[in-house]
Amino acid sequence: MIIKVSEIPDEGLAIDAATLEGSPFSDPAWRLEGLTLRLERDDLDVLVHGEIRATVPQVCGRCLERFGASVAAAVDVRVVPRPATADNVELAADDLDVEFYAKDELDLGVLIETETTLALPMKPLCRDDCLGLCPVCGGNRNVVACRCRDRAPDPRLAVLRDLAARRSR
Ligand SMILES: [Zn+2]
Ligand SMILES: [Zn+2]
Repeated sequence: MIIKVSEIPDEGLAIDAATLEGSPFSDPAWRLEGLTLRLERDDLDVLVHGEIRATVPQVCGRCLERFGASVAAAVDVRVVPRPATADNVELAADDLDVEFYAKDELDLGVLIETETTLALPMKPLCRDDCLGLCPVCGGNRNVVACRCRDRAPDPRLAVLRDLAARRSR
């Protein structure tokens, strides 16, 4: 969704999921769950505040299963006109909360996708108490209660085995 910066009214512009035409995400597997954004002009800049909620497919870091991660991104961004010279770009790039627009056109879809990506979990977990994979058989412990731990070598059994080995000599 392209917003014409010059057409943002002085009192600001409210955007919600219904205002948006279709999904802002390029990946159809990403789902927008909620959106409340407010756009305000500050001279040539546009200030964007609000929240994005989305469900994004992730791979659990423990059990390696795919799951839909709930993502909530708090948005607080200043969108500035793309500078004509590279020098200016470097200055602005130091500030993480700065995005660019060009030719009076602010691509809200790109902004929403960028902010959602930044809010993705660093170590996704399908659930906080995910049991992960068994290091012995590789089974998913959330699904299969494997008995690998029971079969781990028992020191008492080792003594018996030694004894049996000595007797058979
Ligand atoms: Zn998991
Ligand atoms: Zn196992």
